[in-house]
Amino acid sequence: MRVRAGARTDIGRVREGNEDSFVADEPLYAVADGMGGHRGGEVASRLAIETLETLFRKGRGAFAEQVREANRAVFERSMLDRAVAGMGTTLTAAAVEPGRVRLVHVGDSRAYLFREGLLRLLTEDHTVVHEMVQRDEITAEEAEVHPHRSILTRALGTEPDVVVDEHVVETREADRLLLCSDGLTTMLSDDEVAGILRDQADPQAAADELVRAANAAGGIDNITALVLDVEADDAPASRADASAPATAVEPRAEGRGAAATSAAVRPSRKPRREPSVRWGHLLVRVGAAALVAALGVAGARLWLDAQWYVGVSNGRVAVFRGVPTEVAGFELHEVVVETEIPAAEAKTLPFYADLDEGITAGSREEADAIVEQIRADLEESTLVAPGEETP
Ligand code: MG
Repeated sequence: MRVRAGARTDIGRVREGNEDSFVADEPLYAVADGMGGHRGGEVASRLAIETLETLFRKGRGAFAEQVREANRAVFERSMLDRAVAGMGTTLTAAAVEPGRVRLVHVGDSRAYLFREGLLRLLTEDHTVVHEMVQRDEITAEEAEVHPHRSILTRALGTEPDVVVDEHVVETREADRLLLCSDGLTTMLSDDEVAGILRDQADPQAAADELVRAANAAGGIDNITALVLDVEADDAPASRADASAPATAVEPRAEGRGAAATSAAVRPSRKPRREPSVRWGHLLVRVGAAALVAALGVAGARLWLDAQWYVGVSNGRVAVFRGVPTEVAGFELHEVVVETEIPAAEAKTLPFYADLDEGITAGSREEADAIVEQIRADLEESTLVAPGEETP
């Protein structure tokens, strides 16, 4: 058996950097989705991929042990370098062997098998919502759009050691494997993914089309797709390695500053702006201290990176990442964008009186939408007397 591979990574339409990394160099294929403030996510995913690749080439240890080594590399860097403290990454990797594929997996990137027109998920998401589904607390459909679907229960680099899922999948000629980051699967349904894998015979064309479709559906996260076609040994030679660099990471804009966003934000699928219902969930306050206790420090960091709210910074309306509180003297938030809107003016409007306490949002996009709403309401307030819109 040999593999013909197509690979593409894309920044998406919202993020300011690409924190996904991948390797597509037969027989090793892997996707990593980094998270962490500033440049942490980029560093974590790249370091994980590079460490795995180096150990794999040297044949050092079992496949899962190589992943645990990559975990240690990311963890140690995170401890040594304040700038990337708390970073982490997912890692889903495949080693192709004759007649089978070895998979190792941590996080919520995914591996699928597409065989005879059917798409089968091979990995399990290491997320809080997946555990809720397993406990029958919510349905799989509810999990897809759950506001906390981004909270990982396992990641590389957040603890000194990590539990690695391992699978061996028997492969046949004409099987197709897909490795992808959640920026693909939060934008496209399984049916949409299967349709593209069915329609696009060439693996590179399939990877390109998956990324194009995820962008067309919103592109709210970085998107990476690796498509691996299992072929008979007498098939024409692979051409994947010529088109896919060994470790491909999108070119990065330097010096973007504090507005750089984190890959830990996984907004719900196909978000819609619905200002009329925005008050339904925004004022739900979170028991942050309880969550820190429940998740542990590393888990809490991952979780905090996925939380957003609108509050007040330097007297102006601002978008924050984290939660509007502190625990044991540590502030659990950072300012991401400070707008020009005076907070005092916003607070004169009936809905925004509690702005100082923070208005929680399900995603960065939702936080931005709240800011736009405040702006619009302020403009409108010059025409409509406050109080008329009180629910
Ligand atoms: Mg992602």
